[in-house]
Amino acid sequence: MCGIVGYTGKRDAKEIILNGLYRLEYRGYDSAGISLYNQQTKRYELYKDAGRVDHLARIVEDVPYSNSGIGHTRWATHGKVNQLNAHPHMSKNNRFTIVHNGVIENYKNLRDTYLQDHRFSSETDTEVIVALIDYFSHTMPVKEAITTTLKRLQGSYALLILDQEEPSKMYAAKHKSPLLIGRGKDDYVVASDLMAMVGVCDAFIALEDETFVVIEAQKIILYNLDHQPQSLQFQTLDYTDELADKGAHPHYMIKEIMEQPIIIRRILEKYFSEEKLALDPALIKEIKASERIYILAAGTSMHAGYVAKTMIETIVRMPVEVHIASEFAYHPPVLSKKPFFMLISQSGETADLVACLKKIKALNAKTCTVTNVKTSTLAREADFTLEIYAGPEIAVASTKAYTAQIAVLVLLAYALSGKETWDIRYEYSKLSQAMESFLEHYEEMHQITKQTFTKFHAFYIGRGVDYYVGLEAALKLKEISYIHTEGYAAGELKHGTIALIEDQTPVIALITTKEVALNTRSNLHEVASRGANTLTIVTESLKEVGDTVVLPDVHPYLTPILTVLPTQLFAYYAALERGLDIDKPRNLAKSVTVE
Ligand code: GLU
Repeated sequence: MCGIVGYTGKRDAKEIILNGLYRLEYRGYDSAGISLYNQQTKRYELYKDAGRVDHLARIVEDVPYSNSGIGHTRWATHGKVNQLNAHPHMSKNNRFTIVHNGVIENYKNLRDTYLQDHRFSSETDTEVIVALIDYFSHTMPVKEAITTTLKRLQGSYALLILDQEEPSKMYAAKHKSPLLIGRGKDDYVVASDLMAMVGVCDAFIALEDETFVVIEAQKIILYNLDHQPQSLQFQTLDYTDELADKGAHPHYMIKEIMEQPIIIRRILEKYFSEEKLALDPALIKEIKASERIYILAAGTSMHAGYVAKTMIETIVRMPVEVHIASEFAYHPPVLSKKPFFMLISQSGETADLVACLKKIKALNAKTCTVTNVKTSTLAREADFTLEIYAGPEIAVASTKAYTAQIAVLVLLAYALSGKETWDIRYEYSKLSQAMESFLEHYEEMHQITKQTFTKFHAFYIGRGVDYYVGLEAALKLKEISYIHTEGYAAGELKHGTIALIEDQTPVIALITTKEVALNTRSNLHEVASRGANTLTIVTESLKEVGDTVVLPDVHPYLTPILTVLPTQLFAYYAALERGLDIDKPRNLAKSVTVE
């Protein structure tokens, strides 16, 4: 969740840390804090508060120049969003300072075992860590106090630790939550995401679990938890993707919606070589050798998984099951004898999926991560990776990653089928053009949104793959406009939920499949008769007089990538109309790195 940025070197730590935090803020953003070394007092000074990085930047405006410090943006898991719970946290004697991403599951137990007499200043699980380091430091050297603490923690953590008695040193450790170390000319950045070090570092390493590093001046040493030095292999940081920038758009979300046609083309370029689809033959072989694909994912990625299931089953005739990652990890279904696992995660850091991966590895089954971040934990730890090439997605509500995930998974289905019955390059180009031509008039969706989403409830309905797109459409609307929205199988609505239809409740039907178009239209009539405000999103060949949004026909395997566009815009404009924070909706975080 959220962000960690630490800096030590010869440059302006405050500026580098704040810039890094701004870049990570989209991940978690309820509080922000920083601890900066003050060269006069020879101590780290702490500044923190609830609120955004902007607010923190104002607090530290006049803080003197510093060349070392650690910063954090919080997405609260334990304790309210307030100044006391914001990170960094300090030990009672002010000796140790830490920032933490993640969740310590056994924090109560640790508190009761070691810290009965300790008076805590915050309600966080994090404060237990710093209190424990302090506790053990009374009887052992600092490095050992840190590892002794780490060995007792259960849960997830990325940690940066400072010691006032040796202010030139910075300690970093991780378990399950990502932490990367970047190397610049004469300096180091430690951060939970590469984005925070772009422009400062030219090489990086991703820390492994059960290790920790000590950084001092120009030296960095990696240890295992038994204090044996380990070798360090930095890799070049070639972050060539466009850096997150809103450009001419007022919000990242609209910018990212508009990028989608280009991303479809980029996916083609990346996955085709000399006119031929070039997916890793070993991946294709492994999937073909399996009996059943299990797609594990959460949120929007899970909705992409449902669409992929439909397409893989139709194209390849191979059974695919989609499972909620957080359920699968602890309540796995009875598995087929030869399962293959696809893990879909925009960030590649979703903790629920990391937990699944651990379980799957114990089964000795093969895995593939579908992700936007090739350096992520899930990409590193799975047997195969399919990168979606969507570029950094900053708006918390995912749009371009969703369509890119589907586009890559349909390519996979095509490669698995081995039968080239349709010209996939042509169809993807046609899709990209159709998306572009729809998005040219994107502002038309504003007026429709204004007239439609006037109530606290809304429904998307559809059948087959349209139902799955409806699930995503509903999630998008609720995420950023806070309108309670459900995606429903059109035929199922009448079995109970229709009781919620009131005068002017918006019900939007997605109709792109000929076989069931009339059935869905009947379901729409049923709710219209009960007062609903009904709308339709249809494809050209199925249009009827009075349809609301008519989209060009594209190949049926690619239609969902187009159908979702108007629904993304409905969500965007509904949030805009309500004056809400579109890119950073309340309570959410971009990559959910806690279970
Ligand atoms: N569990 C910690 C807290 O609630 C850290 C949450 C985070 O990852 O931001 O403060």
